[in-house]
Amino acid sequence: MTQDGLTVRRAVALSGLVPADALVLLAHALGVDRAWLVAHATDPLPRERSDAFLALAQRRRDGEPVAYLTGWREFFGLDLAVTPSVLIPRPETETLVEVVLERLPADRKVRVVDLGTGSGAIALAIASQRPLAQVLATDLSDAALDVARGNAARLGLANVRFTQGDWYAALAGESAPFDAIAANPPYIAAGDGHLGEGDLRSEPVQALTPGGDGLDALRTIVAGAPARLAPDGWLAVEHGHDQGDDVRALFEAAGLREITVRRDLAGIPRVVAGRRGG
Ligand code: GLN
Repeated sequence: MTQDGLTVRRAVALSGLVPADALVLLAHALGVDRAWLVAHATDPLPRERSDAFLALAQRRRDGEPVAYLTGWREFFGLDLAVTPSVLIPRPETETLVEVVLERLPADRKVRVVDLGTGSGAIALAIASQRPLAQVLATDLSDAALDVARGNAARLGLANVRFTQGDWYAALAGESAPFDAIAANPPYIAAGDGHLGEGDLRSEPVQALTPGGDGLDALRTIVAGAPARLAPDGWLAVEHGHDQGDDVRALFEAAGLREITVRRDLAGIPRVVAGRRGG
């Protein structure tokens, strides 16, 4: 479909999208920001720009996530590039970053690892907030690591390194212990209907579900944490809405202490943290 002389307002109305999505995609197609759209609501758009927008709107209506269509998602104040090789950073994961930052001293060099970094969201947020931290970010996926490395370089965050591998196997070359381990691993149970709905249909399935009851990756991460943590070091993990009690039990079984379950901004138990004994 092409349309002559569409205004900003008319293009948004014609898109068939909720206004929030339409405005993000139109700003992207025009190379402008949201404030420009508001100030130019009745300006006619160049034909090839409105056509490009309507093509993006069609893809959105067909189910592609806005973040993959624009290639960007904001997380913890950082603009991150995202591709279909990485999970789209979620607001609830900012709760995990906050839990780690609350436990991480700002006045000394600390070693932090983000297991399964994807776009690099958690590692880069921590690195930006804690300039003295040396952050390591791991992923099984080389394509994800390319995205994460690109984000670190563009943001000028030199205190993050990247290494490929499966959970703790990625740390084979690391002899020193960590002051904090953070992870937002796949935790959706196999067969959960959400995997077939909305944006999740477009995301890497290995970033969403470990199969089974959804807890396998969390089991591996929690069980292996004490051996990689410094005395008094912290483990913090994100989990599914109904997994708080199970994950707390995993932390207890691993001998971690000072265990807390934190709710996200929607009030849902979302992050468990606990500490290695001194
Ligand atoms: N929080 C994501 C969701 O439920 C799942 C990502 C994950 O498994 N870590 O959409």
